[in-house]
This record gives sequence, structure tokens and C-alpha cells, in this order.
Amino acid sequence: MKFRHSSSSFLAVFTAVLYCLSLPGARSADAQRLSQNVRPDHYTLTLTPDLKVAAFSGEETIDVTLAEAANSITLNSAEIAFQEVTVSAGGKQQTATVTSDKEKEQITFAFAEQLPAGKATLSIAYTGILNNELRGFYLSKTARRNYAVTQFESTDARRAFPSFDEPAFKATYDITLVIDAGDTAISNGPIVSDTPGPGAAKHTLKFLTTPKMSTYLVAFLVGDFQCTEGEADGVKIRGCATPDKVALTPYSVEVAKYVLHYYNTYFGIPYPLKKLDLIALPDFEAGAMENFGAITYRETAMLVDLKTASVGAKKNVALVVAHEMAHQWFGDLVTMQWWDNIWLNEGFATWMENKPVEAMHPEWNIDQMVAGDSNVTLNLDAQPTTRAIRARAETRDEIEEMFDGISYGKAGAVLLSVENFLGPETFREGVHNYLAAHLYSNATAEDFWGAQTATSHKPVDKIMESLVAQPGEPLLTFGEPAGGKVAVAQKRFFLSPSIEPDAKQKWTIPVCIKTGAPGDGHSSTGWKTGSDRQECEVLTPEASTLRAPAASLFFANAGGKGYYRSAYPASVYAALVANAESDLSPTERISLTGDEWAQLRANKATVGDYMNLVTALKDDPSAEVMASAFGGVNSIYEHVAGSAEERAALAAWMVATFGPVYARLPPPAESDSPNTRELRAHLFDVLGRAKDTAVVSQARQIAEQYLADQGSVDGTLGHTALGIAARNGDAAFFDQLQKIAETSNNPELQEGALRLLAAFEDPALVRRSLDYASSSKVRNQDALTQFAIPMQTDATRELAWTYVKDHWDTVKTLLTPELGSELVGSTGGFCSAAERDDVEAFFAGHKVPSAEHSLKHAVESINGCIELRRLQEPHLRQWIAAQGKM
Ligand SMILES: [Zn+2]
Repeated sequence: MKFRHSSSSFLAVFTAVLYCLSLPGARSADAQRLSQNVRPDHYTLTLTPDLKVAAFSGEETIDVTLAEAANSITLNSAEIAFQEVTVSAGGKQQTATVTSDKEKEQITFAFAEQLPAGKATLSIAYTGILNNELRGFYLSKTARRNYAVTQFESTDARRAFPSFDEPAFKATYDITLVIDAGDTAISNGPIVSDTPGPGAAKHTLKFLTTPKMSTYLVAFLVGDFQCTEGEADGVKIRGCATPDKVALTPYSVEVAKYVLHYYNTYFGIPYPLKKLDLIALPDFEAGAMENFGAITYRETAMLVDLKTASVGAKKNVALVVAHEMAHQWFGDLVTMQWWDNIWLNEGFATWMENKPVEAMHPEWNIDQMVAGDSNVTLNLDAQPTTRAIRARAETRDEIEEMFDGISYGKAGAVLLSVENFLGPETFREGVHNYLAAHLYSNATAEDFWGAQTATSHKPVDKIMESLVAQPGEPLLTFGEPAGGKVAVAQKRFFLSPSIEPDAKQKWTIPVCIKTGAPGDGHSSTGWKTGSDRQECEVLTPEASTLRAPAASLFFANAGGKGYYRSAYPASVYAALVANAESDLSPTERISLTGDEWAQLRANKATVGDYMNLVTALKDDPSAEVMASAFGGVNSIYEHVAGSAEERAALAAWMVATFGPVYARLPPPAESDSPNTRELRAHLFDVLGRAKDTAVVSQARQIAEQYLADQGSVDGTLGHTALGIAARNGDAAFFDQLQKIAETSNNPELQEGALRLLAAFEDPALVRRSLDYASSSKVRNQDALTQFAIPMQTDATRELAWTYVKDHWDTVKTLLTPELGSELVGSTGGFCSAAERDDVEAFFAGHKVPSAEHSLKHAVESINGCIELRRLQEPHLRQWIAAQGKM
């Protein structure tokens, strides 16, 4: 699965709040696992959905094997009504007595006569509902018609068919769909027969028997989807959407063709199915879902208008397509034994998605985006409520809570550090060996690092266990390198200086010290070429020195690929800042800004120190470095500055510092690289945030021109201009954007316009946007984000929060687990004790399901902000005073 919230967005880099984040804690819950006595071998499933009345009927047989004789069989089921259940075993047929346990979402079929050990076949006739909850078998709607679609991960296959709904119960499936005559359907396998009937108004589609797979990867989608087609390595690839949007599918097919061939080569195991479909769905909660052979997407994660798309929109689609396709091997073909190891799926796909996209588009500087993402992850993992990558997940809520920044971001960063240490080809062999040993089966974390250890003959097991089983991250404090050695001390790092880490907690991690010149580091031609010039050594808990290779500059995280924070003696750090532009690669400069921001948060550096680094990087040619450096400035503006005067002084500095850099850029040209387009857009955004009057009025002009003719303005600058124009916009501009949000067929523009409605700062328009989000005109999948956006900015936060409290009866009808968590998390932007107490008191009286940990995080973020302001605001004042004297 892929989250909706791209962590690489410009301003997310350093903000304290992380949405969608919730962490499991100790909680008593009954084990809800099924018995191992009965295992499914094969499902035969015929479903007849009625899209008008939002219901379906099902006929199912499940061939099972009993290890021991039994009088009953228990499996999973939710919101299903049973008509008749029989079993045939040992040559006899019996009817079952059915009892359900709603709490556990389990159903027990009891039989008068004991079933012998061995084979048995259950036959089940039942009915279910096509719900509106974006999970199970659900209804997705457009203005024209209804669609019946599925989303089963993690535990919702049981809403569509009674099943052994756990990842290790793999089985094969024969799926048949009985649908309206004019409609089509898509499932995991290709269609093998299409016959008229039953009745004149229906036809019956049978799909090819699937390979052995987990329940959560089954999919069936019914409607009038249309597709464009392609092919790679003999596999038919289709990009499908509702008919009005099929013209926006070819880009995803192009990406999928490239990625399929890339993965076939990388994994050394051919894509295991005969076809691959990518389907964009009008209503979809997550970003995308890796159903085996039938990947589903939120429209913005798959559809692109190539004539007008921004670089960001294309990057996002390419990365999501590559992420879900990585799961076809890593997750679908070989699946984690249980949900506690979901990081194996998600961390792997998060790491893997970058490789084919980097090879396909070297000009996108994907490695720099990854370095920026690592900073976000390290900040998240430096908070006290973080968790170990592998954690307990038994109940539905605990399982859902595993899909967080730790399972994705941290696990991905850990894999990157291990790959960098072993070398890409050795790591690839380890991946191949792991997959080859568990095809169509399940595996654990130990299986993965065992394969890497056996392949590389290096202590990957110790390294990975150290990073996977312990929460948090190490801070490595280095001494002055001398005589080929450098002293190093490690301890757990917290952003907050008031937390004293447990001195006993230590890691076994690879540390790679830079040896080469800049420009050596970037590999863009696949996994076989070298990485940054470096010398790596495994730092053990006992070690207090490392080898220090001869180099003109000492930088202890080559390529920014290690999973740790670094701190240097003053003279070493000063040399790094002075030579950052000449001697560090862009990813290393991104890593350095992250380290310095961490030092500031931990009160080991001041606002002035950080601003000196930003000043040293102000002419940086890389858009990602600029975004990374500016992320901290934005946090200082939003969180450290406590008065209008301080903000005004910071804004004046931003205009004085970045205005000339922007002015020096040549005017936009057709031939501009993606980096140039993004750099220009970032600088324009910085000046817009500083309310530079010329930029604000220019933004409105560019925005109007972009809306009138999207081909006439660079899409990246156009979207940035829209953001500035909306923040400073009036009612007429609001009307204009609302119309686009309601009528545009271009998902980037449509969803973009909707999000922009939430960015207006004029109080009357903030209220109008929230009224609109509460109305039936905004899809459930989008509504709560419209509340979360104004909670991110100081200018609108209080107004939005008051609105949420005053209109809670309406807001609570929009809550789903993921989105409710997002809303609760968004309160983490406050920065005072009174506001924190208000947030806590409100949610104590108005519980949001599955958002308990989001609330803890929000409170922690507010406390972090209070502390940051208390410690750093005096330094900010000093720095401002010093600017005046310059
Ligand atoms: Zn995923």
C-alpha cells in the first residue's frame, strides 16, 4: 500500500507534525488469530454485485485441509449474511450451524458429525453489502454512475467473502463475476471466458486461476473501465480508468513497461502473472494498493496529463507505480508471515521504487529526494513515542497502525544503508536468494537478513537486528581525525534536549566515511555502477574509534546514506560549511542540513548557526538542497518566531537573501531541466511566503495565465504560483478554483484546486472552505484533508480548530481510520500550553477511532514546539539584532 502523503513535499521536510502517524503501544487484546488446524487450499468464488442497491450475493466453495479431525471450522467474516453452509468431507455432506463473533470478525461453522483429518470442501451461500467506507467490497461513485471495487489490505477481504483472512493462509482462487451486460470487470488474472446470462441483462466473466496468494491481495473491480495497452517482456500491461479519464493513462503504462523489464532483470525472477493492470479509482483512501496483477490507485497517483503536468506530479506517479510493482515480487510473490513484519513489504518497496525511476529519469535527482526523505524519517524517529520497526500487531487497530513512517521511511532508509555498505550487486544477489527461497510462500525478517548475511559474508544479521528491533537512532559524535583514526561515541538521539537517553542503548551499524571528490557519488544508470567514494566500517557497541581515511575534508556519512546523525568538533564542522559547495555532493549537503537542524533542536546549535549554514548554501544549484535548507528556515518562521516583529524580520531577511538569487535565474525556457524548474519554483515560493509584494502580484498573474491555458506556463511554476495566489487570494479567485475543483477532468488540477481552497488565509474564505469540505460536494476521501491543511499554518490554525470544535457533529461523520488520524495529527502545529490542553481536553471528550497514538504525537509535537521556542527564541532575537548591525 502507499500512503497519500508524499514525504518529499517541499515544506514537509522539517515540520514537526507528521500526519497519518500512529504508533502501537501496550494494549490488552485477545489474540484474534485463526487456528492452524484448518488451512485453505483453493477458493471458488462467484459474486453478483448489484450496483444500484449497493449489495451483492456470493457463492463460494473453499477446499481446505484439516491437520486433525474437528467438529468445527472457524474463519473470518464481517458484515456478511449466511444463507446456507455445507461441508463435504470423508464422502459425507453436512449442513453447518453458524455462529458469529462480531468483535473478532470470526464465524464458526459447527457440524454434528466430526470431520476427519484430510481434505474437506465448504460450500457457502451468502449476501453482503457494497459499503461506503472505502474498504472491503465498496461503492465508488462518479456523477455518471456507480462502481463496485475492492480494498482488502489489511483485514477487509472478510467483508467480501468468508475467508482465512491472514497473510500466511495462501491459496489459489477461481473468481467469477456476474455483472450487467454493458459493464466489464477486472480481477487478478486475465478473463478466460465471457458468456451471456444468466438472463438477458447480465453476462458472466470467469478469470484465470490465480497462483497461491494471500487474501489481502485479491481484487475485483466492476464498472465501465476503459484501458490503454502496452507490453513488456511478453506481459500485457493495461492502464485503466473511468471512460472520461482514459486519455490520462498512457504515462502510467509507459512507466510500468520500463519498470517491469527493470524488475525482471533486477530480481532475476520474471513477473509471475500473465498480465498486469493498473486501475485508477474515483474513490480510494490510500495512495495505491498492490493487488496481485490488478494494482489500484487514487486517480492523482496514476493519471497524468502529459501536456500540462508538473515535474512533481510525474515523479509522484512514476514512484507510486514503481512502489506497487516492487510489491508484486516483494509482498505478493513472497509475503511476510504476519503483519508485525509489514516493514519487510513497505520498507522494501519504499527503497526499491527509487531505483527504476532513477534509471528512467536520471535528471530527476531521485537520490537527492531520498536524502531529504531520510531527514524527515530521522526527525520522526528522534521523538520519544517512536517505535521499533518490528512491533506487536495483533488486533485490527494495531495492524492498521503499522502503516506509518517507521514501516515505510525508516525501514527504507535502513535498507539503503545496508545496500550502500554491501555494494549494490551483492545486496541484489541477497534479495534474489531470499525471494527464490520463498516463492509463493511466506517469510520473516530473519529469512531476509539471513539471506543477505549468507550472500555477503558480512554481519548483516547483527546490523539489521540492531536497527529493526530497537527504537530510535544513534547520534555519532566524532573527534578530530588524526593519525588515520577518529574517536567516535554513540548514544541514542532525541530532538528534545530534556530527554536523557539510556546510556546502554547502542547499535551495530555501518559507518561510511567520505574519501572522494564531489560528483563521484551519483549513480544514475542502475544498480551496478558504484556509489559514493567512501570507506565503510561496522561500528560496534564496544568500539570507540574508526579508521579515518586520508581526505581533505572529514565527512562521516558519505552520500548521506547512513542511518544516524553526526556531530563534529567545531573546527571540522566549520570546514564542512566553508567547503560544502565545492567538496560535498548534493545528498551530503542535504544530510549536513539535517544534522545541523537536529543540533539546533537538541539545543547544541543556535538559530544563528543554522542561518549561517543556509547563507553558505543560498546559491546552491540543487532544488532539493535549497528545499532542505529552507525547510529549517520555515520551521524557525513558524515555530521559533513568537511575535509579528520577529516574523517580519525573518521575512525581510528571506527577501534580501533569496530575492537576488531568484533574480539571477534566467527566464523560464522550454529547455529547462526539471531541477531548474523546481529550483525556480522553490525560490518563488520562499519569496511568496515572505510576502514579497512584487512576487505576490506576479504569482496571481502567473496563476491566472496558467488557469486560462495550462500549456502556456511551466506546470511546476504554475502550481507554486497558484499556492501563493490562494494564500493571498480573494473571493473571486476562490470561486474560480472551486469551479475547477468541481468540473476539471485533470486529477492534478482538480485535486490541486480543491487543496488550494483550504490554503486561503482570508478568515471568511477559511470558513467558506471548511463549510464546503463538510458538504456532500467533496468526496469522503478528500474531506478531512481540507480540515488538516489550514491547521498547518499559523495564519489559519486557530480559526480552523475553532471550526472543527464548533462543527464536530458534522466533522465526525467524515471520519475514517486513516483520515481521522490525519485530522487529530494536524493539531500538532500548535505551540502553547493552553492550546495543547485544549486539544487534549477536546479529544478526551470526543474520541476519534484509531487516533489515540496520533493524539500522543500531536501533544508531543506541541510540547516540542514550546520547548524549541523557549530555548531558541532568544537566539533568534540575537540573530535579528546582529542582522541589523551588518
Ligand atoms: Zn506499499
